[in-house]
Amino acid sequence: MPYKMQMSKEKKIIDVAVALPVYGTYSYSVPDNLSAMIAPGKRIIVPFGRRRVTGYVLGIPDQISDLSLKKVLDVLDDGPLFPESMVPFFKWISDYYMYPLGQVIKNALPGGLTTAEQKVLTLTHKGRHFLKQGIMTTMEATILNTLKTESLSLKALEKKIQQPLPTAIALAMLERGWVCREKKIRSGKTQAKKEKFIFLTDKETDKVKLSKTRKKIIDYLKNEHEVSLKALKKVVPTAPKIVKAMASSGQVRVDRKQVYRDPFGEPVKRDTPPSLTNEQKQIVAKIQKLMGIKFAPFLLSGVTGSGKTEVYLQLALETLNQDLSVIILVPEIALISQMERRFRSRFGNQIAILHSGLSSGERFDQWLKLARGEIKIAIGARSAVFAPVKNIGLIVVDEEHDTSYKQETSLHYNARDIAIVRAKQHNAVALLGSATPSIQSYHNAMTGKYTQVSLTRRILNRRLPDITIVDLCGMRDQRGYRRYFSKELLLELENTMKRNEQAILFLNRRGFASLPICGACGKHLQCKNCDISLTYHQQLNAYRCHYCGFSMSGSTKCPSCGIADIRHLGFGTEKIETIVRGLFPDKNIARMDRDTVAHKGSVLKILKGLNDGSIDILIGTQMVAKGHDYPNITLVGIICADLSLSFPDFRAGEQTFQLLAQVSGRAGRGDRSGSVILQTYNPKHFSILCAKHQNVHQFYDQEITFRKDLNYPPFSRMVQIIVSGRDKTKVNHHAQALGTACKTLFANEKKFRETIVMMGPIEAPYAKIASRYRWQILFKGNQTGLLHRYIHKLMVLNAPLMNNRQVKTTIDVDPVFMM
Ligand code: ADP
Ligand code: ZN
Repeated sequence: MPYKMQMSKEKKIIDVAVALPVYGTYSYSVPDNLSAMIAPGKRIIVPFGRRRVTGYVLGIPDQISDLSLKKVLDVLDDGPLFPESMVPFFKWISDYYMYPLGQVIKNALPGGLTTAEQKVLTLTHKGRHFLKQGIMTTMEATILNTLKTESLSLKALEKKIQQPLPTAIALAMLERGWVCREKKIRSGKTQAKKEKFIFLTDKETDKVKLSKTRKKIIDYLKNEHEVSLKALKKVVPTAPKIVKAMASSGQVRVDRKQVYRDPFGEPVKRDTPPSLTNEQKQIVAKIQKLMGIKFAPFLLSGVTGSGKTEVYLQLALETLNQDLSVIILVPEIALISQMERRFRSRFGNQIAILHSGLSSGERFDQWLKLARGEIKIAIGARSAVFAPVKNIGLIVVDEEHDTSYKQETSLHYNARDIAIVRAKQHNAVALLGSATPSIQSYHNAMTGKYTQVSLTRRILNRRLPDITIVDLCGMRDQRGYRRYFSKELLLELENTMKRNEQAILFLNRRGFASLPICGACGKHLQCKNCDISLTYHQQLNAYRCHYCGFSMSGSTKCPSCGIADIRHLGFGTEKIETIVRGLFPDKNIARMDRDTVAHKGSVLKILKGLNDGSIDILIGTQMVAKGHDYPNITLVGIICADLSLSFPDFRAGEQTFQLLAQVSGRAGRGDRSGSVILQTYNPKHFSILCAKHQNVHQFYDQEITFRKDLNYPPFSRMVQIIVSGRDKTKVNHHAQALGTACKTLFANEKKFRETIVMMGPIEAPYAKIASRYRWQILFKGNQTGLLHRYIHKLMVLNAPLMNNRQVKTTIDVDPVFMM
């Protein structure tokens, strides 16, 4: 009796997170036919309500009998996409950032993987019958003929028949029963790439008489054991046909095998590790002692060019020697290429690179190599903190102060912070490195949470650049280029060019004119969708919004008064570029900002130009400030240091200091010393003075007092709730309702009231972005646990409010962007 046998058999139960906005995990039973394929870290298809969705296998608890559970429908992966040891990490993130577990995992995995269910139209028997009879309109016949070979979604069908499908026709065909609607699982766009490979079989071929070509193939295989059809075709052009025949007579076997797409260009020459300086040696020894033994967080501070990267390289080698794996986080794609070059010349092909500049296929392949343990070093931007490696020994966060470690969409995590968490869970070393550490990390070092190690000198005792501050207030009445270029800067620039050295000009704002104003009515040109002034871009001859991408022709009349007299006030990198081209017509000038590096590969091209000397002057935004190491750059000009100082954000001073110190550090990295001309309207501001002296400690001492007085992080933690939507009134009401709910919760619980400060609801500083009106509520608390419990409770008690469709509520834990 088969039914009874099944009843008595123990069922396998698994714990699953689904890729939906739901909290918690779910249990499913595994049918016998899938049992062998189930493993933690694999994606599966499960029924959920009336849908079928992607789930992630978290674990296999001990066998329990429970027949009421729903069954797993399918297993999507051959091998796990992440190790089981990452599950506690995902759970921690879900908890801390108050984000659904399945969506945390989805966010962590390389894009394009998640399968989704799709409604498709399928031709029925009845439809086939009528099609044969031909009693229908040409349109109907075209549709049915197209559906003859495959079921298609409405969108795919319209694409195939190259015209829109009128709803009336579709409905009529459904009603007549010619087609029916079905659900189909659509696989994600990214799949492992498989190629045909040819292998030898056991079949004796020596005594058989073979054609010359067949013999050539067999001999080839005897040498190489296996060969891809693609490679064989290069040796034997007719291979596809012959191999097919050989396979059917059993002489060879053809099988599909996964191949890795290679995201890298040329192989890099191996370097020899330099012998470390005494400072480096001591640091490496200190860290090495703890590796593989216990969780040990370090803050490595050291001026630019002091040899931090060399410390990473040596420690990575030590980690590999202990058979542990390494994760290296770098803030930007442009810097990854540099880190990659250094690691590749030391470790050859033993590294995997993960960042958004790779195609989804390349990224998936790199991911799989890590997940399978074939490669133990992962280098990448913030998402590489999720690299699926086991047995972590070392996580490095380079330029740890960089705000691009914070993700500002969907899951609002900070890669630097969760790198620490991951290291802790693995008893690994976490090494945060920076020339200008964040106040947060510096504070952790000061209070003993992290161990501080410092590199105090540049390698070979190269001098830090001399920084000259120039007061811009004296230049307000100047005309033309003299408004932007002080005498000091011009002189240095000319001298640098005469010496055939390179210069960087830094201005943290792109475009040509940042403040287009109507000369007739005095109104700013504002974005239609945002509460923000448009920027004029000369090359495009267009006004553009830097937040939503809205664009308007450069010959526009004033939208308010209709007069064509728009004045281009304000300036940006594009204007500086135009001026510099005029001043130095014989020099090669390049610009690096978000406008010029939109294309894949354009950053690399600019960096290559800097490296080979074909660029004399590089103008750019903060992109040029970071980490680049080119010995022939001897001048850095900071056109206006004040742009980030005026942000209404408690970190404005910190970020300005970091940016200025970093960009200054680009000068004089080679044998010749460098100089920096820093132009500012606030020559006495302490962020600017500390940047001049490159004095991290002095800056910290002043800034930390200010933070303490106002109870800002690191003395408190913050959570920001953003409420946004397209309907201004609804958003306003929603924010007020949420504010009331917050107050109720305070009224009901004393411990919340006593430890948490609520600010708002108020309209956000950027009150409208991309057609969405925005309000915010900010919470500040001295006890992280209580603050988080408060927000959790708020979410649970006000679920309908928090999950409203028209007004979106976003929770940002430890916010960075507070505008
Ligand atoms: P950082 O990461 O602090 O900016 P790097 O590690 O890039 O510094 O070092 C700056 C330069 O000095 C690099 O060109 C590097 O190759 C070189 N360097 C680093 N350590 C040593 C060493 N011990 N001996 C000689 N050169 C070194
Ligand atoms: Zn806009």
